[in-house]
Amino acid sequence: MSGIYIHIPFCRRKCHYCNFFSLASQKLKEPFLDAVKKEIALTRGYLAGEPVNTIYFGGGTPSVYRPAELQEVMAGIDSPDSIKNPSPPDPSPDCIKNPSPPDPSPRGEGRIFSAIDKEITIELNPEDVTEEYVEELKDTWFNRFSLGVQSFFEEDLISLNRSHSAAQALNAVKLLHNAGYENISIDLIYGIPSSTPARWQENLEIAFSLNVPHISAYSLTVEPKTPLAWMIDRQKSEPVNDESQVEQYKMLINKTKEQGFLQYEISNFCKPGHHAIHNTNYWNGVPYLGLGPSAHNFNGSSRRWNVANLSEYITRLAKGDCLFEEEILTPAQKYNEYVMTSLRTIRGCSLEQIISNFQFPISNYFLNRASVFLKRGLLSETSGVYFLTDEGKLFADMITSELFLTE
Ligand code: SF4
Repeated sequence: MSGIYIHIPFCRRKCHYCNFFSLASQKLKEPFLDAVKKEIALTRGYLAGEPVNTIYFGGGTPSVYRPAELQEVMAGIDSPDSIKNPSPPDPSPDCIKNPSPPDPSPRGEGRIFSAIDKEITIELNPEDVTEEYVEELKDTWFNRFSLGVQSFFEEDLISLNRSHSAAQALNAVKLLHNAGYENISIDLIYGIPSSTPARWQENLEIAFSLNVPHISAYSLTVEPKTPLAWMIDRQKSEPVNDESQVEQYKMLINKTKEQGFLQYEISNFCKPGHHAIHNTNYWNGVPYLGLGPSAHNFNGSSRRWNVANLSEYITRLAKGDCLFEEEILTPAQKYNEYVMTSLRTIRGCSLEQIISNFQFPISNYFLNRASVFLKRGLLSETSGVYFLTDEGKLFADMITSELFLTE
């Protein structure tokens, strides 16, 4: 199985904290769609015929496009026969609630993709989710919706330069629910300088009251060269308060647990059965194809990333060419990748896997380094599988980098 990520590089405006590749100008919206369709045709071989079981439209802001435009892109992922006769969306509500397991058909046999039993996600900005938009979504294969809410408080949204209001976020969830969609995730940000632990608690309570089965919550990070970094440097914005951010993260872990959410990854919480299959596959080392400028690709042995330049991306594809950089992963990089992704998730980092995939010197190195964090209570170990403790999750980046191999 494998996944496809499609990066939509447009936003209505740039959020102050954002360092993703996206442009506020939308003048290349049409040529971009043509380019990405060409990229699908050109890169089909990267996944070596592996069946595709998830598609994820992220960005940027995919909802700058009408649903039908994105559906047309998706149709290009299917085999030529199915493009002519795309499978109809499954009308049963069970399909929306519980995407079935991956297509077991062997590699290269017949179709590589069928919409019926797959997870197909679109990231939506709340201001785009109108009654009309949701009506149009019903004619597409999308069955999972990730809403960029960030906060339910206007002051926070204004300070982040978000392009929507809290009321639009609440309305978006309501409209999706009214349409019968239940597989909804909301993104929240904690540690916003304009916020407080008390307000974060209110944010969480509002999120729980919406009855959504998935929450992604990220700490506000001040990335270099962003407007937020510029404003903090010039004292036009309060800096992030580390203590308050830690308090909010602890609150997040405890409150989501009380509400029956499972923390299946450091920043991701779900009700049973509602984990994001696409993202879980990333963390489990499943191959994926990334389309669009700045998108990344992984097929088990190499990593590729597209140029983060929209005009260049479009020009090259118009000539039938893709512009990407590629690296073949060394054993040390594969080990680092495994340690980083496994420790972030509920599956933990297995010594047995390290021994069988990377042999003795590396497993010994891991054991020596991990023992330091076991003693400090930042890692725990059960039957040879290592996990970050709740305290350890606060230092995840530091711990994983200490476990990394350098070449
Ligand atoms: S909507 Fe997302 S991608 Fe676009 S500017 Fe804001 S954070 Fe960045």
